[in-house]
Amino acid sequence: MKFLVNSMLGKLARLLRIFGYDTVYAEEVEKSAPDSRLLEYAIENDRIIITRDLPFHKRAKDRTIYVEGFDAYENLLKLEKKLGLTLTFSLNKARCSTCNSVLKKIDDKTTIVNDINPNTFQDHDEFYQCLNTRCNKIYWEGTHIEKIVKKLNEKA
Ligand SMILES: [Zn+2]
Repeated sequence: MKFLVNSMLGKLARLLRIFGYDTVYAEEVEKSAPDSRLLEYAIENDRIIITRDLPFHKRAKDRTIYVEGFDAYENLLKLEKKLGLTLTFSLNKARCSTCNSVLKKIDDKTTIVNDINPNTFQDHDEFYQCLNTRCNKIYWEGTHIEKIVKKLNEKA
């Protein structure tokens, strides 16, 4: 299941990526892309559009999922129910929250010693890195992820 998340739902897009779902954000398709362009892109790339735009949803019912409100966590839980998403966090299936690329496990953490905070380096043994060479963001199971998982469990 792959997604295209409409404008104003950027946080939801990042959460979907963190939980391992291939998700493109509307602004990444094209700046201020019209609905027709998004729809075309979603059909071409076999993506489900998640939108807050009710008229758009009504025009493209079989390709869009409508979500209300701004709470990204509540919206994510709604999608879980509607689509049967699996919201278990695991770094080896997570995608980069910034660019949606896949992550690769770092075999030898000493290779990234200069790229992260010394405390983080010391406290963790497992690191992953975004494979997109223009991004290369580094991930680990730290407090940031814990907070997300906790918040989601509180809302569930
Ligand atoms: Zn990335």
